Amino acid sequence: MRNMNKIKDAEELIMGKQKKNKTTGTCKHCGQQMIIHLPDGWDPENKTQDEYDQLATEQCECAQAMKEAENAKKKAAAIKRMTEYYDKIIAGIKGQDPEAVKERLLFDRRCTFMIGAIQGVTDNVVSAAAIQISKSEMMSIGYKANGDLQIKRVYKGSEEWLF
Ligand SMILES: [Zn+2]
Repeated sequence: MRNMNKIKDAEELIMGKQKKNKTTGTCKHCGQQMIIHLPDGWDPENKTQDEYDQLATEQCECAQAMKEAENAKKKAAAIKRMTEYYDKIIAGIKGQDPEAVKERLLFDRRCTFMIGAIQGVTDNVVSAAAIQISKSEMMSIGYKANGDLQIKRVYKGSEEWLF
């Protein structure tokens, strides 16, 4: 990818084109200013300096930026896992009768709620969440001492997802 960018840069230089895929941003943690590579589909004309700085922060290799990137990965993985979990349940509820429709909606709303809980924990809005889903099912979300993001599901035994 980096090599591809270099080739592209070189081509643009040869052709005398204005280089539009590179610009500068400042890491919000360490304050380092750097040249950033813009993701595909970014329209530089419509972006604010804040958005450039956010991108610089994501691409910076200082300790705090790396930690944040690592956390973003955990958050995305946990949301994906939760979505897959509920999608499977929803797909298993067959039929178009009102009860089935209602049940699918219920699980869809639970999924949205759980994703909100993951966001709350990973964005550091709350330190942990424990949610009683039904009389017999509970889920908790939080960080373990070693930094792993843990989702625990208790339902006829317990199950643990780690990210
Ligand atoms: Zn940094």
